[in-house]
Amino acid sequence: MSLRDNINPTGMFILANMVFAFLFNSAFGYGLATAYSVFTFILMLTFRSRIVYSSAIMVGAVIAFLYCPVGLTFGPPDLNAMTSVAYTDKAESLEFLMSISVWKWLISISILLSAMSCCLLKTKTNFVLPRILSLLSIFCFFSMPIKAAYQENNFSLLDSHYPPIRFVNDARNAYKQVSADKAFYEHNMKMPDDWDNDIHDDNYNTVVIVIGESVRRDFMSAYGFPVNNTSFMQSTPGIIFTDYISSGPATVLSLTHSLYRFKNGQIEYNNSIVRLLDKSGYHTSWISNQGVFGSSDSPVSLAGKQADEYHFVKNGSSNKFLYSPDEKILPLVSDALHRKGKKAIFIHLMGSHPMACVRTNGQYETFFRSKEESCYVQSIKNTDALLSRVYAMLGQNSNSWAMMYFADHGLMVVDKGASEERLQHADKYQNNYDVPLFVTTSSMKESQKITAPRSGFDLIPLVTQMVGITEPSIDIKCNLYSNEACSNDRVVLKKDGTLVPYNSLAREETLY
Ligand SMILES: [Zn+2]
Repeated sequence: MSLRDNINPTGMFILANMVFAFLFNSAFGYGLATAYSVFTFILMLTFRSRIVYSSAIMVGAVIAFLYCPVGLTFGPPDLNAMTSVAYTDKAESLEFLMSISVWKWLISISILLSAMSCCLLKTKTNFVLPRILSLLSIFCFFSMPIKAAYQENNFSLLDSHYPPIRFVNDARNAYKQVSADKAFYEHNMKMPDDWDNDIHDDNYNTVVIVIGESVRRDFMSAYGFPVNNTSFMQSTPGIIFTDYISSGPATVLSLTHSLYRFKNGQIEYNNSIVRLLDKSGYHTSWISNQGVFGSSDSPVSLAGKQADEYHFVKNGSSNKFLYSPDEKILPLVSDALHRKGKKAIFIHLMGSHPMACVRTNGQYETFFRSKEESCYVQSIKNTDALLSRVYAMLGQNSNSWAMMYFADHGLMVVDKGASEERLQHADKYQNNYDVPLFVTTSSMKESQKITAPRSGFDLIPLVTQMVGITEPSIDIKCNLYSNEACSNDRVVLKKDGTLVPYNSLAREETLY
């Protein structure tokens, strides 16, 4: 018997169909979807017409081929993925596609190749068993809508969890949400601001506000951490606030409630601190190492886009999985500082965002409990070093300046005691909100500590009091730069946006 006799065309056809069904169903980011793959395979065998069969397979294959690299990297088309599409330009998309690993592209190409094999091998077949079983396939694909119809009297074919249908439905819903959000922010941004400011003559010429990322202050030596990672903050004349908390547990929740005026339970997107400084006679710049996109980040980057000048620096996409050191912003900071006249510069760092080892490119000087946690400690040290460089540049360019550094939120330690011990976003403990706040100005000569409670909801008055702007709508009557207790009942936002008293949260067990 020759080799040729061993290759059974029907067997090859069945095999190609199996491979395609499996790859096709996995391409949309919903995991392996084994049952759906089996039922897709059965259904594929029932086609008689080669044209109908080939058209259906190729349409599906092209969609799966295009989405597969994204699906395998980021999962199904959710709000995050759709926002990236909405806020990413062509150059960024190209960089993003190039950042996806080769094997994901190979899987993607395999989908096309297996689909083509299916079409080429297709002959007039008549499988009886699949014809009978295909009824089961239909039932399986639409089991979710059938269940919903039975339980809730609500039937929509789009509720199917069959990956291609679910993909279309998820993409449609996420797109609708993103468009609505975008329209809402943009509408609000276009509204004129209501700031009514009275700026003193003796205020600082240059203002720098550095927004740190995911820094929990008990991981900083300035706040008692055993590894020395904040030598700049500890040795520089300035004020260390020992009880400042963020308003939220994640970037967007926190920064939208700190950078914009929050009044009567509403964020006023037209009234940002950026615009207030602009109105107060400062030329404003926003320099960010975080992406413009990310569902989450969009209202934050919109605050940046209210500046006279803005730069979003990043490596590839604003993809959080790529190494993009914060030092890349320094030349832009230098340019902004060289500008004549009054200026306010906002710097938004990538800082210590999980995964910490991506932030430090896997490097750390001191081991602390686990690799990832060591990188976290190192990332804070890197931010401290960056602050010292900005501080040095300030001194060279101006003799009248103020600089503030705070972080958007803390994190929680997970997998304690395991080699994968690491920090991740959470809203469970007070520590998830305990962040650093450090202020230094050209007139400060010594280090000072303010132990009175302060909150991210008061970030705007913290900035205006630092700069010397009086704004009547800012109803903080006390001196935030003293130990005066301005308000005792501080609240924080939970992940879902509800407000709870900070004191109702427990403290996380200390690691040292
Ligand atoms: Zn953050």
